[in-house]
Formats: sequence, structure tokens, C-alpha cells
Amino acid sequence: MARYHIETYGCTSNRGESRAIEQKLRDAGHRPVDSPEAADVAIMNSCTVVEKTERNMIRRAEELQAETADLIITGCMALAQGEEFESEGIDARILHWDDVPTAVGNGECPTTTVGTEPILDGVIGILPIARGCMSDCSYCITKHATGKIDSPPVEENVEKARALVHAGAKEIRITGQDTGVYGWDEGERKLHTLLDRICTEIDGEFRVRVGMANPKGLHGIREELAEVFADHDELYNFIHAPVQSGSNDVLGDMRRQHQVSEFIETVETFDEYLDEWTLSTDFIVGFPTETDEDHEQSMELFREIRPEKVNVTRFSKRPNTDAAEMDGLGGTLKKKRSKAMSELKHEIVGEAYESMVGTRREVLVVEEGTGDSVKCRDDAYRQIIVQNASEHGLEIGEFTTVEVTGHNTVYALAVPVGPVPAGGKPEDRRSRGA
Ligand code: SF4
Repeated sequence: MARYHIETYGCTSNRGESRAIEQKLRDAGHRPVDSPEAADVAIMNSCTVVEKTERNMIRRAEELQAETADLIITGCMALAQGEEFESEGIDARILHWDDVPTAVGNGECPTTTVGTEPILDGVIGILPIARGCMSDCSYCITKHATGKIDSPPVEENVEKARALVHAGAKEIRITGQDTGVYGWDEGERKLHTLLDRICTEIDGEFRVRVGMANPKGLHGIREELAEVFADHDELYNFIHAPVQSGSNDVLGDMRRQHQVSEFIETVETFDEYLDEWTLSTDFIVGFPTETDEDHEQSMELFREIRPEKVNVTRFSKRPNTDAAEMDGLGGTLKKKRSKAMSELKHEIVGEAYESMVGTRREVLVVEEGTGDSVKCRDDAYRQIIVQNASEHGLEIGEFTTVEVTGHNTVYALAVPVGPVPAGGKPEDRRSRGA
């Protein structure tokens, strides 16, 4: 669990975003500290109102960068002018508010599923399908809290999903420490079976997002899973598979169980089955045994697989883990490597968003954004923001068609162009990473 320091600038709305971030961090077991020096990660929730504010934000980011091991910048200035921080040479992760809580971990799996009861939040239903994992990663402290995978029967999870849809859920988020090994403790991995049954047996118009699944578990069911994704429009074409490194030597030291080749085979299988999908992955940069060559292998893998959503985490030690006993790399080297990977991320993710501009896509309006905006998700679970939602009469939970007009580094911007065409999808599609 991480020690975090959070600073908030600007309006009431931004303070509300910080409160929401803090709530999730505390739920996940992270701990606040008073100063950036005492923190594993500092979070700056930025504001951009007038030019003077922007200069202050840049100056404060420079100070935080020097004072803390790892810096995350979120908020309005990060989202509207993230490149300003980059052009000033600030080494930080620029993230949407929603992505901050998961980014605070040290590459560990999420711990937000402490209980296994579903939660309905607006039209989002959160369904933890199991607790625990089948791994023993050397840097992980989550494992101490969650233990080995414990999978309730498929039938039970289908009924919980049905109850969420009946209660008004339009988006069901399947969560767990490692959804890809659901059922392993029962002798058979069953994620594909569960997804197929949810999509086949539950009436209603809804979407399903599958949460984090480690590459090893996914690899064993890649064909079955990709086929289920291809069969059901209800499933967002989205996979979050944290590879963590492009070097098998480092993966071995991390005790990650998978090989790089297995991760690539899984990606290739989804490429074969799906026209358009989002690959989300995570890299840990600066693991104690990572050499220059290992780092370059991670960069090469990144260029090869072209993920559209990436979390780059600079390694930091967590107490009572085996990795904490290893001789660490210097902070300067870790910063240099994470900066190189963050630049590559912005280039590749930026190109992916740029290729969306001008396309039309069906989206689900999922929740309110800041001001009069709404957050939507397309079929590949990309976040798309529509401004002036009330003027357009957009309602949370409705499906509509939008045209993408622009983007920043973490989401696309779009305008509504009408209802979803009967029996069809908007025709502008593209392959992943194109
Ligand atoms: S898969 Fe690894 S990082 Fe995730 S909870 Fe298990 S041991 Fe921790």
C-alpha cells in the first residue's frame, strides 16, 4: 500500500474530484501523509483559470517533482494542457481524475474488492467476481490482504449481474484482483463462461467491462475469451492485461508467471478475432534488477503492441515484500527511464486518439463529468467527453451516436449527432493501434 500526498487547486468541483480520489485510495488501503517528502507518490490536482495560475501550477509541479519519488498530475490543467508540463521537462504521470486511484499502486492488482458484494453507483454496477489471485509477485503487498483466488460459482455471479441490471445498471464492471483466473481454484478457468452467460441469459440493454486480468491466466483461455468477445456486443472490446516488463529476466525476478511471448500471443489472438479493441496494459519501470537492455526490451514491446491505454509506474519499495530487500536503482535512473516511457506513451496514445477524430461511434453515456459535460464510453471502452450535455438533452444511461472532434492525452471530445441507427453501428471503424 502506498503513502500518498495530495494537493488540490481551484474550484469546488476540483475539490470534489480530490475527495472522490481520496475515498478510493483509502478504500484500497493507501495512507495519506502530510508532506511530499514522506510520500511514495504525490498527487497534484491542478487548475487552469488564468495565465498566472498556470505559471503557479508549473512552478509547484517542479517543486513536487524534486520533493517526491513519484508525481501524478491530474485536474483541469493536466487534461487541457498536459503538454505544458511535458515541455517544461516535468517528469510526471498526466492522468484523468478517474485513473488516479489505480495508478497509485506499485503495479499491484486493485484491492477495491475487499468484499464480494456488488455496488450500484448511478448506472454503473460493480461486480466483484472473486477475491485473490494465483500469483506471488515479489513486489506485491496486496497479496497479504487478499490471499489465493476464491471463486464463487458462475451461477451466483450471473444472478448478481442480473440483479444489477434489474436495479438500473447499464454498465457492469467485472472486477477482481485477477479476473483471468476466476474459477482456477475450482479446477477450471471460467471467465469466458461467465461472460457468455451474462450476455446470453440477462435481458436488457447494457455493457460489460472486464477488469484487470494477468497475462498468464488470459493466455490459457485466449481463444475461448476472444470468441466470446466477438460473439457479444454487450462486451466492451477492452482488455486490461498488465505485462509490467518486456524482459523475461525481469518478469522472472518479479515472479510474474508469464513470459513476454505469452502476452504477445494473447494480444495477437484478440487482434485476429476483433476489428477494433482497446489494449490496456501496465509497465513497472526501474525494478531493482532492470538493466538498460531490459528497459530497452520494454520500450520495444511497447512499440510493437501499441497499447491505447497504459499505466507507467516507477518502481518503489513496499514494506514486507521480497523486492524491498533487493538493491534498488538510483532515483535519477528510474526517472530517466520513466520519462522515456511516458514520452513514448504520449506519442502512441496520441496517435490512437488522433485517428479517431472525424469518426462516428455509438456510445453509452455513463456518468456526469465536470461542469455541464458527460462521460461516455464507445464499444472499445474509450472515454469520450461531450460538453454542453443539457443543451444536447443527453441523459445518463442512454445510448447515442457521437462524432469525435478532438482529444487530449487521456480522452476524446465529441458532439452528439443523433440516436443509434436501428440495427447498425456507425460505420467508421479502425483496427487497434492503426
Ligand atoms: S497477481 Fe501479483 S500483484 Fe496482483 S495481487 Fe497477486 S501477487 Fe499481487
